[in-house]
Amino acid sequence: MNSEIPDWVRLQKALSIEAQRGFTDLAGNQYRFSEFLCLSFGQAPPVGTPGSERRRWQEFALRFARYSQLPPAQRQSLVLEARRFLYDLRQTLESSPELSQPKLPRTKPAIGNSKTASDRFVSLDDPIGTLAEVGRIREKSLEERLGLRTVRDLLFYYPRDHIDYARQVNIAHLVAGETVTVIGTVRRCNCFTSPKNSKLTIFELLIRDKTGQIKLNRFFAGTRFTNRGWQENQKRQYPLGSVVAASGLVRKNKYGLTLEDPEIEVLDSLGASIESLKIGRVLPVYPLSEGITADVVRKAVIGAMGAISQIKEPLPVSLRNQYGLLGLKDAIANIHFPTDADTLGYARRRLVFDEFFYLQLGFLHRRHQQRQTETSAIFTPSGQLIEKFNQIIPFSLTNAQKRVVSEILADLNSSTPMNRLVQGDVGSGKTIVAVFAILAAIQSGYQAAMMAPTEVLAEQHYRKIVSWFNLLHLPVELLTGSTKVSKRREIHAQLQTGELPLLIGTHALIQDPVNFRRLGLVVIDEQHRFGVQQRARLLSKGQSPHVLSMTATPIPRTLALTMHGDLDVSQIDQLPPGRQPIQTTVLSGRERSQAYELIRREVAQGRQAYVIFPVIEESEKLDVRAAVDEYQRLRETIFPDFQIGLLHGRMNSQDKEAALNAFRDNQTPIIVATTVIEVGVDVPNATVMLVENAERFGLSQLHQLRGRVGRGSHKSYCLLMSSSKTPDAHQRLSVLEQSQDGFFISEMDLRFRGPGEILGTRQVGLPDFALASLAEDREVLELARDAAEKIMMRDPTLKEMPSIKKELEIRYQRLLGGNILT
Ligand code: ADP
Ligand code: MG
Repeated sequence: MNSEIPDWVRLQKALSIEAQRGFTDLAGNQYRFSEFLCLSFGQAPPVGTPGSERRRWQEFALRFARYSQLPPAQRQSLVLEARRFLYDLRQTLESSPELSQPKLPRTKPAIGNSKTASDRFVSLDDPIGTLAEVGRIREKSLEERLGLRTVRDLLFYYPRDHIDYARQVNIAHLVAGETVTVIGTVRRCNCFTSPKNSKLTIFELLIRDKTGQIKLNRFFAGTRFTNRGWQENQKRQYPLGSVVAASGLVRKNKYGLTLEDPEIEVLDSLGASIESLKIGRVLPVYPLSEGITADVVRKAVIGAMGAISQIKEPLPVSLRNQYGLLGLKDAIANIHFPTDADTLGYARRRLVFDEFFYLQLGFLHRRHQQRQTETSAIFTPSGQLIEKFNQIIPFSLTNAQKRVVSEILADLNSSTPMNRLVQGDVGSGKTIVAVFAILAAIQSGYQAAMMAPTEVLAEQHYRKIVSWFNLLHLPVELLTGSTKVSKRREIHAQLQTGELPLLIGTHALIQDPVNFRRLGLVVIDEQHRFGVQQRARLLSKGQSPHVLSMTATPIPRTLALTMHGDLDVSQIDQLPPGRQPIQTTVLSGRERSQAYELIRREVAQGRQAYVIFPVIEESEKLDVRAAVDEYQRLRETIFPDFQIGLLHGRMNSQDKEAALNAFRDNQTPIIVATTVIEVGVDVPNATVMLVENAERFGLSQLHQLRGRVGRGSHKSYCLLMSSSKTPDAHQRLSVLEQSQDGFFISEMDLRFRGPGEILGTRQVGLPDFALASLAEDREVLELARDAAEKIMMRDPTLKEMPSIKKELEIRYQRLLGGNILT
């Protein structure tokens, strides 16, 4: 293996030749230039490379993987950058002699270090009770509380954090707030009962190194320790002049700096190795549960380390090299007990890669299988209905709409089932795009179903589509929870005979008696609001129908890949012409009167306003109360001269519809509402959106709410009221003042609050990663996706990679709780 590792001087040479030949990605004997560079940077950087440079080194692997796709100018600058990087790195490495500090004595490797470990062979599948470090009682609590059953479970139980005691610092250079290890000689040692508290024992140690001295304290509560003999024994362990190592968090107290609750160990000599499992190490911190201490888990994991050599590496060397990945055994060992922070970084990177990789591979594998086994009806894009529709629509499609329509029509013109997600900001015009798909199905003799998450939204789709369908002489019906029984029966009958080509509705569509004669297309609006099962139920009403999903919640690519890695995604990234940006302002409670003034002015000019209250599911009752109270207050004291409507989720659907209709017809120019209004309500005459307690919403949710105004030709306003005092909340909200771009806003949401907030729902269907963070590991996710795509391209059934296939089966199910595999 070693002979394959390219010498990094050769790297510099390759770069300079590539530059001389004009950046043509030269082909060498064995590799092209870009492959050689990618491989070389995929190897570990030279010994001694500092941490920040190590990361850059790794990044070059990725960047050269894409070299051949770059235009010449970018090739040139990449080559230049790499040359400079290598030059500087070489300078650094060759000019810096070893640091001249006294060295931290070697810590023994944690693996196989335990004295208590039984000698017997431990296998990965053994129950953890067989480990001497665990024992029967702990076995039970570890299994019950943390779900750890086998030795393998322990090894794959990753720490959630680490404390870095590996950094040795001179006493004079301690800084409060850092975790460190100091080494010094004992100058004084004391152990006594506290004069103020007879149950407290204080242990005091003064140590010094050549730069200074520090006093360390440990406290022992309980009468057990006030015993003189115990105290004397403590003192005897730290004779004057002996060398000790101590690790802990540096803290400042009134006597100066000290280490909080330090771990202390006496060393035989300066060169001796440290027995403690804590001192001088990067220490794992595990997710714990009641009644289980950190040390119990640490010890158990150490016991399990003996089995680490049995872990099989599923990824081939070539792939690991290409993406610069540590071997799995090393990664597991180092995620628990890393030798230093850099190694921890590599270990984490490998394991995060795995989490993403198997998920992506699972998505792609599933899609491949689907394509092999399922066939859908073929819909022709050229036909009377679509032609006619093109003539009757009152506007011309935006270029983005045209592009997405043609992507969809191409999908439908094939027997491979379409599984496409259309993402488009609020108001980007997704409905009409869906209508094209629906018409393609109908003109080919098939039926279509369109499902929306709320009655309000379903009804709105119905209204819009019925007006178009009338012109096309096509029937369409609406089915929701409040459809009358007689009407329901009629609809069911017409679906079965096939005379009804399109049914729009809510969850009512997936209730059982709904049977289609030839369901060929399913459209799901606001698809993230539906669970996997609900979607599957609707699909099962046809034979591999094509599926078009739509969402107005633009999600960052990281999220899109993790949630919909098996979908094709189209974006309507352009708004219809003539839309004005919505002027957005964050207001504090004191500035409320400004908001009311604005509403008054707009309403006086014939416009309309929303006043929105957040509803958080756990406190729905209270939130609805707040909205009702505010409704009364506005009606009685602020706007007694205007009609005001009220809309919230606890009203029955007739009242809801009445309230919405009254607002739509401008009988009530102002409506006070909870978030039921969020999705898709379309009242172009509304120009003011006032959101109360805005800090309780995610940014993407606010962006959706804001999309309720600015739908007509009038200038519109969004006022975000927040009485939160934290600067953080204000900073977060101000993103909306600055941007109208849904994708940018959701990126920011991901940074500020995490994935759950963007989707705004509980059941987001996100896999449960142990290590990976969507906000931080974006780059690794891209690599993993890239790797998965390449593998699927070469070997879609994974027959040449049985170990990957096996791992996939285990992991993919676990990641998605088994619920994506039907
Ligand atoms: P969303 O993407 O939020 O679902 P809709 O489909 O409800 O958006 O469309 C928003 C409004 O814009 C509707 O009134 C729709 O008729 C109108 N619209 C859609 N496409 C265009 C276009 N190309 N030009 C002008 N108006 C359009
Ligand atoms: Mg919509």
